[in-house]
Amino acid sequence: MRIAALLSALSLAFSASSFAAETPIAIVIHGGAGTILKKDITPAQRIAYHAALRKAVKRGHQILDAGGNSEDAVIAAITAMEDSPLFNAGHGAVLNHRGEVELDASIMRGEDRNAGAIAGVKTIKNPILAAREVMHHSPHVFMAGEGAETFAAERQLPLVDNTFFITQRRQLQLQRIHAHERKTLDDRAGTVGAVALDKHGNITAATSTGGMSNKRYGRIGDVPVIGAGTYADNRSCGISATGHGEYFIRAAVAFNICSQSRLLNISLQQAADNVVLEELVTLGGDGGIVGLAPNGEVVVSFNSAGMYRAWIDASGNEHSAIFKND
Ligand code: ASP
Repeated sequence: MRIAALLSALSLAFSASSFAAETPIAIVIHGGAGTILKKDITPAQRIAYHAALRKAVKRGHQILDAGGNSEDAVIAAITAMEDSPLFNAGHGAVLNHRGEVELDASIMRGEDRNAGAIAGVKTIKNPILAAREVMHHSPHVFMAGEGAETFAAERQLPLVDNTFFITQRRQLQLQRIHAHERKTLDDRAGTVGAVALDKHGNITAATSTGGMSNKRYGRIGDVPVIGAGTYADNRSCGISATGHGEYFIRAAVAFNICSQSRLLNISLQQAADNVVLEELVTLGGDGGIVGLAPNGEVVVSFNSAGMYRAWIDASGNEHSAIFKND
């Protein structure tokens, strides 16, 4: 009897340790994609971006490492980037045609596919926190404008004047666009996103943005559209996108990638490349995605010159990059 009990204790211990090895944690983030050219970025700016990305990804990873959940991890990474003036989210976001900041954000959990999103808000200091409140404390998935702001106030999130978000860099950028009467909505890189996998196997994806520079007021992009800019499903993926939002909505990018990988039984990387390097290119949409597969595999795909990105993989290795390879 005793030997049997010992053997069963040993087998329990063995399965617990193999379970631990089979429950990887990982996090991947982006800070936007676009025409980011080596010649346009100074060495000091490059260092600043790498440092900001690594700080954000480490904030998220620390939570996962301590046994925390993927939702808290992505929130930690995204709020760090919303608070940084380097990125097109929160403080430092791009300006619309009227010179105001209008923010969009969303979050989705792969465990139960619950989600929350907000769009076109002008006073919520950290939009991703409002998206999370919509997910947890409302019967809705998607709220916009004044109603979303009233809801955020009721949830006691910090509100600020719109001028809080506006930086001189973005004002100059808008002036340049107006001066050249450019029809295109470029210079927008800097949307932020994060995808994390926790030790319970739960994936969460989240994205936050100021949208496109010089956009019409009232324009809403892909970021708060669940299935376009953000999607998570523990069976297949977590995806956060960045790029020319109109195209990402039309190609249902994040859901499309997750579905291809699950239904065609192909790797998440292959599915991401199908959508980002083929479908989007055919439509004419530039940008990219970061994602995680349920096994912790990090996926990155972009068809633009660069994409700010960083990740800490399942082996604990830390990476950050801006251009194709560095
Ligand atoms: N996707 C965002 C939007 O269209 C912008 C970006 O990611 O650069 O609003």
